[in-house]
Amino acid sequence: MAGGTLSFHPDDRYNAFLRTIPEVAYGEGRLSGVPVAIKDNISTAGIETTCASRILSGYVPPYDATVVSLLRREGAAIVGKTNMDEFGMGSTTENSAFGPTKNPHDPGRVPGGSSGGSAAAVAAGLVPLALGTDTGGSIRCPAAFCGIVGLKPTYGRVSRYGLVAYANSLEQIGPMAASVSQVNLLMSVIAGYDHRDSTSLDAPYSHTPDSDIRGTRIGVPEEFFGEGVDPRVASVIWDAISLLERKGAEIITCRFPSMPYALAAYYVTCMSEASSNLARYDGVRYGPPPDVKKPWHEAFQERRREGFGLEVRRRIMIGTFALSSGYYGKYYAKAQAARKNVRKDFRHLFADVDVIAGPTMPTVAFRLGEKSDPLSMYLSDILTVPANLAGVPALSVPCGKVEGLPVGLQVMGRWMEDERVVDVAYAYEQGVKA
Ligand code: GLN
Repeated sequence: MAGGTLSFHPDDRYNAFLRTIPEVAYGEGRLSGVPVAIKDNISTAGIETTCASRILSGYVPPYDATVVSLLRREGAAIVGKTNMDEFGMGSTTENSAFGPTKNPHDPGRVPGGSSGGSAAAVAAGLVPLALGTDTGGSIRCPAAFCGIVGLKPTYGRVSRYGLVAYANSLEQIGPMAASVSQVNLLMSVIAGYDHRDSTSLDAPYSHTPDSDIRGTRIGVPEEFFGEGVDPRVASVIWDAISLLERKGAEIITCRFPSMPYALAAYYVTCMSEASSNLARYDGVRYGPPPDVKKPWHEAFQERRREGFGLEVRRRIMIGTFALSSGYYGKYYAKAQAARKNVRKDFRHLFADVDVIAGPTMPTVAFRLGEKSDPLSMYLSDILTVPANLAGVPALSVPCGKVEGLPVGLQVMGRWMEDERVVDVAYAYEQGVKA
């Protein structure tokens, strides 16, 4: 197929996009002319990139993120930048400075977050493919809430060059689409070594999904069905696991002892990293300039107070505290010790099982405004953060509904076995169709 120009005028009634490009030139390749939406924390040359934050309004990156260059090289049409929780901090997309995205399955509910705009754009049929980012569940949560497929790759498999950092030791860019094979295709375009990302792995992804899972050992940890997990969600998940068993997989119930510490380890780590990563927003180098007539510390303070939303400020303050000399050992160092235990649990489990399965989210999508205190919002990430702490691949595939709202089955795999995670999800998807 030759290149050309694509007109893109979506009916964005769910506020999935922060900005769209009405006429997009595209080239030739495996994605020639295919519209792809990009989360707004991924740099796009010549296209404003704000991370849904006021502090970056007007910032136009001079270069493309590696994933965006790879998409363009395959002829993809980059049609717009999607809404998100400010800097990726949230699980509902309500923390966007530019208004929340709504869930296409029920506009009174959140799409999940922080990649809520990407998930809603796919679920509403505005684009077939989208990129999200996942620091603690931000691809899988909105995929689950919007009834689509999302993969958080093995840490290092997809370049982070050009991704605006929130918590860089945890996050990965990953593919989102309506089906497993589309996610697989997008992953094959964006994965691979990049010398510009010091954590990059030399592991290209070239895979044809295989639905034969006979003999695959699937571990199901009891802790993934603990307190806070809606029993109706649990029952839909067990139905999905039974289907995998009928397809020839062996189901093994198991334990994940570090689970009670995973959430705290995640939040201390991500806030500490955020406090350091976000120090660069001084109002001088990016976004609207400060009032230069004031003493610099006042101008700086004012710019950050006005530029950052409440949740971002809360995290910068908590993270700064956790890293301060008197408290470092008590918080940051402890979180790293707990992180080691999470890795250890995965290592032990993966000696006996090939993948781990459970719910992606403990509930279906919340009502807009329902989670008003930060702690209850943080708690909803309990099932997704372990994979980020360990850097292992994890995917969410739609597996049924509760009261008309989608539920996602989460499949986690061994480090570097993204292919196997895709196969198990593919087996489930094909099994449902059969
Ligand atoms: N909800 C989690 C957080 O707020 C995860 C966000 C993400 O993955 N970017 O940190």
